[in-house]
Amino acid sequence: MTEQPCASAHTHEVYAVKFAEHPGGTRGEYFHGSAAEPRGASAPLDYFVWLVRTPQADIVVDAGFTAETAEKRKRVYHRTPSAALAQLGTDCSAVPWVVLSHFHYDHVGELEAFPNARFVVQAEEMAFWTGRFAARGEFRRLIEEQDITRLVSLSLAGRLRFVDGSSELVPGVRVHLVGGHTAGTQVVSVATARGTVVLAADASHFYGNVCDDAPFAIHTDLAGMYGAFDLIHELASGPELIVPGHDPEVLRRFDPVAGIDGTAVRIA
Ligand SMILES: [Zn+2]
Repeated sequence: MTEQPCASAHTHEVYAVKFAEHPGGTRGEYFHGSAAEPRGASAPLDYFVWLVRTPQADIVVDAGFTAETAEKRKRVYHRTPSAALAQLGTDCSAVPWVVLSHFHYDHVGELEAFPNARFVVQAEEMAFWTGRFAARGEFRRLIEEQDITRLVSLSLAGRLRFVDGSSELVPGVRVHLVGGHTAGTQVVSVATARGTVVLAADASHFYGNVCDDAPFAIHTDLAGMYGAFDLIHELASGPELIVPGHDPEVLRRFDPVAGIDGTAVRIA
């Protein structure tokens, strides 16, 4: 029998593309404990979706939020996540997998842009947001009701792929339960020509979380957030291949994608 080369595991490309921003954030709002000082220091947030381009298909990580949600929450909105992905040549109607890092409003808002996708979720995340604590103030304020009801509908339609822990979507692309930020936050590791990239999403909003061991202010489990930092470092081939979820610095550290207005970068 002829052996098949396994080069496909290392030819995946990874992109980050920004669709919105919140220039007015402060360190005091976003960092936990002593890392929140000086509290008034500026900490602008960018909102991204991520693309993993494999030889077989484009896999998307997260689904951003809509213009209506941006208006309600006073965020600066540049384009829909699907329009941002279209700039990279992604046909959202052909995307087979959308990984949802967690269910906060800024990660699950445009699910209907992917009519033929299955959404990859941690079972624990679904259980939490349909469970007894989701309605409590500090949790409730971070979700939109229509997003959660849509996820329940997608579940009943058989369009969620539930994961308990780790799972491989295609060779070289894996999701990993980390928790911490939310009950079922997951990160994505991708084998690329540069090594293993980790899309951390909100397991590390900023480089200053995972790289300085400084937790973000919002978490369901502080120890879990430290554990997430450990796993991210373990999975990534180097700290330069960790991609935080909201850091404007991402657009400065990686090569811009030609022909786009500085809002998309190629990670690997
Ligand atoms: Zn979040």
